[in-house]
Amino acid sequence: MANRQTILVVEDEKTIGNYIETILLSNEYKVLRAMNGTTGLSLCTSHHPEVILLDLGLPDIDGMEVLQRIRGFSNLPIIVISARTQEREKVEALDSGADDYITKPFGAEELLARIRTALRHRLHVGQGQMQPVYSRDGLVIDFERRLVTLQGNAIHLTQIEYKLVSLLAQNAGKVLTYDFILKDIWGPYADTDNQILRVNMANIRRKLEVNPAEPHYIFTEIGVGYRMLE
Ligand code: CA
Repeated sequence: MANRQTILVVEDEKTIGNYIETILLSNEYKVLRAMNGTTGLSLCTSHHPEVILLDLGLPDIDGMEVLQRIRGFSNLPIIVISARTQEREKVEALDSGADDYITKPFGAEELLARIRTALRHRLHVGQGQMQPVYSRDGLVIDFERRLVTLQGNAIHLTQIEYKLVSLLAQNAGKVLTYDFILKDIWGPYADTDNQILRVNMANIRRKLEVNPAEPHYIFTEIGVGYRMLE
């Protein structure tokens, strides 16, 4: 009950803003509302919210510019509110420093999960911590020993596969873009494309998932990247 963190909601559509506010208030968050980018920026500097929910289609300043301006002075988690078809926009927002996005229409559970993930990652980053172990639903990754087990059985991954899984697991719950993953695993100058990533992911899923077509641990965010079960 003690989580009185402040969430700034920058959204010009009143019904969506009201919907979000209702969910947040009933979950003990404090809510600030802005109907445009200018107010959003000024509330951000005056009230130091813990998380920002940012719609990209705003009446005055483009949401992407609001995002970049906030990133000019703050690392606070920014979750972009996006429409279903705007994959390029989502990728651009993530590459411009957004922590995550949520696609309209979304439910209360999804919204709250995104906020919890954003707050948790900020805490870990702030303390320079790395999770020692990832453990969810029978899948255990021991980062120190570089050991992956599924329901107690050792899973043999190639070096690249292991790097991929551990990168996603260290960021569990958060979407990672194809570009981000490629740069992280193959280096900034590697001549790679999404194809090599897809091939590796298919191999990983064959080893980890009961049904690779309906993954339980690593989800595809179509046109954007991958997200691992939190
Ligand atoms: Ca809008």
